[in-house]
Amino acid sequence: MTNPDVIYETIILGSGPAGLTAAIYAGRSRCCPLLIHGVQPGGQLTTTTAVDNFPGFPEGIDGPDLMDNMRRQAERFGTRFVEGEVTKVDLQERPFRIWTGNDIYRCLTLIISTGASSKLLGLGNEESLYGRGVSVCATCDGFFYRDREVVVVGGGDTAMEEAVFLTRFANKVTVVHRRDSLRATPVLADRALTHKQINFIWNSTLTEILEDSTGVTGIRTRNLKSGEETELACDGVFIAIGHRPNTELFLNQLEMNDDGYILTRNGTQTNVSGVFAAGDVQDQQFRQAVTAAGTGCMAAIQAERFLDNLPYDSTLSCKKGICMPKG
Ligand code: NAP
Repeated sequence: MTNPDVIYETIILGSGPAGLTAAIYAGRSRCCPLLIHGVQPGGQLTTTTAVDNFPGFPEGIDGPDLMDNMRRQAERFGTRFVEGEVTKVDLQERPFRIWTGNDIYRCLTLIISTGASSKLLGLGNEESLYGRGVSVCATCDGFFYRDREVVVVGGGDTAMEEAVFLTRFANKVTVVHRRDSLRATPVLADRALTHKQINFIWNSTLTEILEDSTGVTGIRTRNLKSGEETELACDGVFIAIGHRPNTELFLNQLEMNDDGYILTRNGTQTNVSGVFAAGDVQDQQFRQAVTAAGTGCMAAIQAERFLDNLPYDSTLSCKKGICMPKG
């Protein structure tokens, strides 16, 4: 059980690049933030094999290794890690309260870095083929498809950007879209529609991802108008049907845009003072590990400044990131 007297100076929710970078900075400046993570710590990068675009690793680094390095760096500066599924938060007054099951944690500043989840198609082998031909990030994995044939699923901006990006590597890119017109903004749509290496399969969805022992070998599509099923050989399937920010916990407490991303101003400040948001949970546009780390750093610096500017509370004694009632 948690000690009901304890108030943490800073609690961080989430253990992706944003949360761990926030932990490194918060740990170095004031010491010992509490980081609460779920059962699969590390965020989206733990599903990526090689990360080639995180600065400082000229030969690339495996996603899980990168996250493990960040975690050990955060540990070195005193971060306390707690595993638990956060079920409720109360941001109405400070200290803020966070529930994980029956435990309640209280804090003076909160950094939310709960990330976003890629939407998936719901096909049986989609997740087991992650890293073996199925990807949700062309920027991360496109490089591995040099001179191969790949499929992109989706008709929005992300799908078009990924399709065009993938032509740098793949010989042929086929976009499968469930309608006969694109949702993507005209400039991105035109770029893909006029690209010589990109083909479109319209009005169609994937019914199956074909595989053998080496990974993806093709797809089966169904035309939604005719019902006809077709097979197409390919080496990779990039699913780009949108992301869902993990913000359900903060509904009606924090300002969000229509897609559920937390709105921030002046860096990572949310509409509740003392609450900061970093990484994909507030970034609909870039969604890169390095941008998430950057906003995690910003959030920790802003949380520290916020703590520095809090009026002196003579009833509390604070040491190593933890405040307790005096006496
Ligand atoms: P999105 O705009 O929501 O598009 C998702 C696409 O996937 C849509 O074409 C949708 O089809 C399709 N889709 C959704 N669920 C599906 C399913 N179960 N099966 C098959 N297809 C499915 O998502 P996004 O492209 O990731 O973009 C998200 C936001 O980020 C947008 O506001 C976008 O403008 C922005 N963004 C901007 C840029 C840029 O400006 N450079 C780049 C990337 C993203 P329907 O069209 O039929 O709904």
